[in-house]
Amino acid sequence: MDHHVETTSVDAGFIEDKTSGGMAAPIYLATTFERDADGSYPLGFEYSRDANPNRTQLERAMAQLEGGESAAAFASGSAVAMTLFQALKPGDHVVAPTDAYFGIRQMLDKVFVPWGLSVTYADTSAPDLVEAALKDNTAMIFVETPSNPKLQVTDIRLMASLARRNNALLVCDNTVATPVLQQPFHHGADIVIHSTTKYIGGHHDSMGGVAICRQNDDYWNRVRFPQKICGAIPSPFNAWLTLWGVSSLVYRMRAHSANGLAVARFLERHNRIEKVLYPGLESHAGFDTAANQMSSFGGLMSVLVRGDAGSAMSVAARVELFRRATSFGGAHSLIEHRASVEGPNSTTPPNLLRLAVGLENPQDLIADLEQALA
Ligand SMILES: *Cc1c(COP(=O)(O)O)cnc(C)c1O
Repeated sequence: MDHHVETTSVDAGFIEDKTSGGMAAPIYLATTFERDADGSYPLGFEYSRDANPNRTQLERAMAQLEGGESAAAFASGSAVAMTLFQALKPGDHVVAPTDAYFGIRQMLDKVFVPWGLSVTYADTSAPDLVEAALKDNTAMIFVETPSNPKLQVTDIRLMASLARRNNALLVCDNTVATPVLQQPFHHGADIVIHSTTKYIGGHHDSMGGVAICRQNDDYWNRVRFPQKICGAIPSPFNAWLTLWGVSSLVYRMRAHSANGLAVARFLERHNRIEKVLYPGLESHAGFDTAANQMSSFGGLMSVLVRGDAGSAMSVAARVELFRRATSFGGAHSLIEHRASVEGPNSTTPPNLLRLAVGLENPQDLIADLEQALA
């Protein structure tokens, strides 16, 4: 039976505990599972690197939430990206966003270019620039929307038509939006990925990543195979924690979105702020596209503080309720000076602060920013 998304997210992760009737799923620590006298594996599990009940349940839940055919869970979002690039062939060309998660750019430049991929970076919010970057051997267009940290919005449907025309795959990093706010398969993406370390897990306590495919094809087999054979898998406990997060995901995303919009509107009016980068503001260049493909806009935003790196750092130094830490997606609000985290190769503006708006009362968050900006 087809349920509403709130019901799916509560129920998809539940594993019935046949021993006790417990209402929290058991964690299956077993690395090895028993065979029958005829040599078969009656419950389908053999060795925990190949499949584990907690991981299998997480994969089912994520495939269901995104509306894909199959999912594969990994030890981190980065391990997912690594596996997707490895499933291409040396000699293939990839178009990747100029504004993407910093680690993915480093992975391409320092691991996969030496391995044999060629990469062109393009501003994926400008479809003509992506079109100009395509080559005969382009095998993948990789997009992240909204992007991290500049919150650029990419039109998934336009990217999908460019990818189709070029016989390339469209991969969409949906970490910032989550399937609650945006479902890239509905707009033509072939593969959706998440760092579940962020909103999906939702509590700053477990690393993980998931790739989901629209259809189970040859390329997907090349993603599945190294998951089992190379083994960059999440532990049963991390799969369990991530699923625990999934059960409250819909309501958390609604609160992150409401708080995010309130904080963004406050910051937009503040005279020490030069610009707020948040796709839910009408002033954002990607607002129309975002409003078309997202149901609301989440809790992640960046601001350009009037002045230089020092001005931005001094705001971050004065917050009391926001915590100075990297990452996003948990209950606590976080603030971060991105350029100094990314290091000397960063292309992030020096006066940019990234804010991950959490689940506190938005009036308290606004009061904290007000005193830090005073
Ligand atoms: C954090 C993040 C990643 C990397 O995920 P890890 O779990 O930290 O390895 C990839 N993409 C985006 C958009 C992210 O925010």
